[in-house]
Amino acid sequence: MDSIAKLTEMFRKFPGIGPRQARRFAYFLLSADSSYVSSLSTGINSLKKETSVCSDCRRYFAKSDSRPTCAICSDTGRDKTLLTIVSTDVDMDAFEKSGVYEGMYFVLGGYVPLIETDEPEKRIRAGHLTDLIKRRSKDGLSEIIFALSATPEGEHTASFLADYLSKLAEDLNFKITHLGKGLSTGTELEYADSETIKNALKNRE
Ligand SMILES: [Zn+2]
Repeated sequence: MDSIAKLTEMFRKFPGIGPRQARRFAYFLLSADSSYVSSLSTGINSLKKETSVCSDCRRYFAKSDSRPTCAICSDTGRDKTLLTIVSTDVDMDAFEKSGVYEGMYFVLGGYVPLIETDEPEKRIRAGHLTDLIKRRSKDGLSEIIFALSATPEGEHTASFLADYLSKLAEDLNFKITHLGKGLSTGTELEYADSETIKNALKNRE
């Protein structure tokens, strides 16, 4: 396989990228400035080296020698009684950017697929979530907010998790709420604007 074909194959693995776009990316790099290509390549090489997964919320953050947790989880000023569950880092960024939420987060890292699957809890970070909830319970956790996309997969994941956590909610005395209908059907959290997120949070039930 030649370099163009090899790189095209690699770009095809990117989310939402088809074969034609992947090929265009490869040709774009051929015609781009050498300095651009070289900084892109350095950036890709250092991405994993310089990034860690937060031991609490499981989001990616710029690695620090001193802390195992991200800036949000280490911020003592945030409200530890609230825990919002999102599917991806991108959703969390959208939520955080809206500037209306002061609580904590957890990133599931995916969705429970609609088709039946063995051990669906392993498709999301349910084990990590349970551990975190037990720890946060000691800090007064009182509410878990599901902020999953209003898509069939998002709703399926929310109902799976509500079941999965129901016993724990009873034992540790926290409630489970869902974002209000401000997020219209089919809206992905990632694309929601600040005002929509603010209303969805205010109207949670
Ligand atoms: Zn964190």
